[in-house]
Amino acid sequence: MIEHDFFRQAINNLSSQGQRRFLQPVVQLPGGRIASGDRLLLNLSSNDYLGLSQRPELKEAVIAATSRYGVGAGASRLICGNHELYEQLEERIARFKKTAAAVVFASGYMANVGVISAVVAKGDCIFSDELNHASIIDGIRMSRGQLFVYRHKDMDHLEELLAAAPKEGKAIIVTDSVFSMDGDLAPLQKLVLLRKKYGCLLIVDEAHATGVLGSSGGGLAQHLELGGEIDLTVGTFSKALGSIGGFVAGSTDLVDFLVNSARSLIFSTALPPAILAANLAAIDLAENCSQLRDKLFDNTHNLLHNLRKMGFLIGPTETAIIPLMMGETGRAVALAAALLKEGILVKPIRPPTVPKGTARIRITASAAHSPLDIESALAAFVKVGI
Ligand code: PMP
Repeated sequence: MIEHDFFRQAINNLSSQGQRRFLQPVVQLPGGRIASGDRLLLNLSSNDYLGLSQRPELKEAVIAATSRYGVGAGASRLICGNHELYEQLEERIARFKKTAAAVVFASGYMANVGVISAVVAKGDCIFSDELNHASIIDGIRMSRGQLFVYRHKDMDHLEELLAAAPKEGKAIIVTDSVFSMDGDLAPLQKLVLLRKKYGCLLIVDEAHATGVLGSSGGGLAQHLELGGEIDLTVGTFSKALGSIGGFVAGSTDLVDFLVNSARSLIFSTALPPAILAANLAAIDLAENCSQLRDKLFDNTHNLLHNLRKMGFLIGPTETAIIPLMMGETGRAVALAAALLKEGILVKPIRPPTVPKGTARIRITASAAHSPLDIESALAAFVKVGI
């Protein structure tokens, strides 16, 4: 038997740097709540922005589709897992995102990894914001392209890199539309101008904007009326849409290309029919419930305004993600632990998820929270102090 000291040592190193993480069993509950052990907590750490994960419309869709079709898809989409609901869902996504076509993946992570590794070929150049999500970074690592990282939202830096890069292959720009750990927005208008000037493909990950931004939840591109200028939109059902699954929206040729080349679609089992049914219900709700978006923004604004008044240093958010900047990991961990004692679940986000020295508490409200919930959360912050 070989002694695997490697694993113990790696864990000990993480512990000594305050970076060891643990999985906690929890149960999501209605009302923006979560149960952990014998405790009922107010959940300020979920991406279920509109509270859709607990909606009867989604639950009923899952139950009905499961009763009718069973559970597993049985194979990948290209073998025999391509349930007929896929066609309906992809047509619905394309209408929601106002594109010609769309293709569903098993998760947002798999969409990014599959798309980027398929689209970015040998000899291509890929330009990526330094704060893009890990799934974008992993997709780039799996591609054969040459990577250029530009400073966060710095369009002058991006243009310098675009001008100097080799011109033989394709040039592809990729960005989150809402940055997941800061809640700030990509400069989409300027990116669209650079896309035109340098003849690039523009990939925009709308994971945290889908269902949240835009008059019918279409995302940042819808909000800025730039939908037609984006070659490839990535989205996920796992956040404001309250379910699971990723998607890419764009032209019919793009979708056809991805079905033939995105390895995370080709070599992984299809989503169960029940999830496809839930996702159809989720789009209907997200598109038509602007009062949920209003509620989300009221709750977010209330939190933001009062946390600022208490003296918290808050990152440059423009959305429902509120980063309380704590600097050192220890401070973020201590604040989260103190809030937990008061019945509030928030999570410390620390390196390597965020750059060193920028540990934070990432707070997200939900449309499922009542004004009273937000008041009680703020009272807990007052009690534990900065
Ligand atoms: N992109 C961004 C910006 C994200 O924040 C996430 C999830 N953290 C993903 C993609 C991956 O989505 P999913 O959780 O559906 O895999």
